[in-house]
Amino acid sequence: MDTNLKIAVLSGKGGTGKTLVASNLAKIANRAVYLDCDVEEPNGHLFLKGPVLEAFDVDLPMPEVNLDLCDYCRKCVDFCAFNALALISGRVKVFDKICHSCGGCKVICPQNAIEEYNKNIGKIERRHYDNVDVYTGILNPGEESGTSIIKKMMTTIPSGYETAIIDSPPGSACIVMDSIEDADYCVLVAEPTTFGAHNLRMVHELTKVFNKPCGAVLNKTNGEEDPSRIYCMDNNVPILLDIPWRKDISDYIAEGSLVVEKDKELSESFAALLERISQEVQNEKNTYTQR
Ligand code: SF4
Ligand code: SF4
Repeated sequence: MDTNLKIAVLSGKGGTGKTLVASNLAKIANRAVYLDCDVEEPNGHLFLKGPVLEAFDVDLPMPEVNLDLCDYCRKCVDFCAFNALALISGRVKVFDKICHSCGGCKVICPQNAIEEYNKNIGKIERRHYDNVDVYTGILNPGEESGTSIIKKMMTTIPSGYETAIIDSPPGSACIVMDSIEDADYCVLVAEPTTFGAHNLRMVHELTKVFNKPCGAVLNKTNGEEDPSRIYCMDNNVPILLDIPWRKDISDYIAEGSLVVEKDKELSESFAALLERISQEVQNEKNTYTQR
């Protein structure tokens, strides 16, 4: 993805305000692309609305055993590191839900008995909202992993955008890593609770593994003791923005509105947030080129 500024927005669990932050950041940016990588429950398009302009299927190659050629030597079963193959009642069975489509069994089969077919696991939809191209990854119900959908989004989005906002899946599993690998900066969204601080720690640890600069947005703050704020202060995580708990903000979200279009103060806060991140990334790039 050839974009000046790539910002991943993460949270340790769903419902923290990740999409609130990601969709409003995209709206405030120039020539932006929004990538909804929360493929099991994408909802950015509920805020960045528009008809589906294009849809692309995401297929994976799956092994299929030609029983006329197979001599049941077991080599493919022993080879598969994911235990996606088993010899049952004299036939090789493929467990497609856990197959990683690595193609290894096809290569190793001495009888050339393994062929491949394309299995559809989901799709990517494209919409357009004002200044934002909106890409939504959607994993079919029952599928185990949306990693391929995220990889396809990251590699096939056209260039020419000034800012890319990546709405990562919640949590800190492998699929989240795929969504932040290419990011210049990670925004960690957290709620002001002990559980929120625990989730914040999880995603913060992930950014350290990838050596990504990061900062926190504290959502639903109410002026009371905030374990997430304490975590940030104890661990040198800059607090980029407080979004207060307010009924009008909850109402805007419930009606599917972007808060930057409803509230001048929040619009200015999001603009300042984007400017700060942009400046930090630029400083980081300058430091890197001077080395
Ligand atoms: S390696 Fe080929 S021949 Fe051997 S069990 Fe597997 S599919 Fe059959
Ligand atoms: S393609 Fe790879 S993961 Fe899938 S069954 Fe074959 S060896 Fe296992």
